[in-house]
Amino acid sequence: MKIIMLGAPGAGKGTQAKKIAEKYQIPHISTGDIFRANIKGGTELGMKAKAFMDQGQLVPDEITIGMLMDRIKEDDCKNGYVLDGFPRTIPQAESLTKALADLGDKIDYAINVDVPDEAIVTRMSGRRACLKCGATYHIKYNAPKTEGICDTCGEKLVLRDDDKPETVQKRLTVYHEQTQPLIDYYKNEGCLAEVDGTKDLDVVFQDIVAILGE
Ligand code: ADP
Ligand code: ADP
Ligand code: ZN
Repeated sequence: MKIIMLGAPGAGKGTQAKKIAEKYQIPHISTGDIFRANIKGGTELGMKAKAFMDQGQLVPDEITIGMLMDRIKEDDCKNGYVLDGFPRTIPQAESLTKALADLGDKIDYAINVDVPDEAIVTRMSGRRACLKCGATYHIKYNAPKTEGICDTCGEKLVLRDDDKPETVQKRLTVYHEQTQPLIDYYKNEGCLAEVDGTKDLDVVFQDIVAILGE
């Protein structure tokens, strides 16, 4: 099964993608996590990406598309994957559609997690991230067992540099301009599904399972 998560920054794509990956035994591929791992590792790709990410801008397609295409060619992607944070632009979506079509393949579901902008800013200020394993928490809605520590790997949790309110506003503007058009793109492709992301996170997951099947 090949799945794409659509939705604004902070809509809950990562949270749901992790649950999907676990239930359906497919890899969770987050382009944001790949960039952050590169920044942490001090690679050239990481340094290039950081300059854009810190401004709340998208990393250019020339960098992002190649990186994602390499990732989905890896062995663990044979039975599918859940993409979180890719595609984010029409050219990214078109590249993915074409690469899959060349293999006689396609995306099965593009799930749009719908959350209005007002709710996003509160969510982001309470988000805490594990930069080691990619887990995300919320100080109120999804707190870790021990404050400030990742349940899964024990790493210290951080408030991401780009989760400050000013940068979140910028990311929302970029989302509406460049990413929201993908909802219509996947509607036309015939694989769009929508869930109400303002519900409790377990309810959102149940709604997703109802779409994907048990
Ligand atoms: P969020 O989960 O809050 O939406 P991500 O971790 O997905 O954030 O992305 C963080 C940042 O990484 C983005 O603001 C952007 O700068 C960069 N990024 C991630 N995925 C992409 C992509 N597909 N295209 C361009 N930039 C990306
Ligand atoms: P995205 O990957 O779309 O940027 P995340 O999955 O990281 O979003 O979620 C953003 C923040 O909101 C995190 O702190 C997360 O714990 C919290 N969150 C996710 N889903 C919900 C929900 N349904 N209700 C309340 N908070 C949520
Ligand atoms: Zn962790």
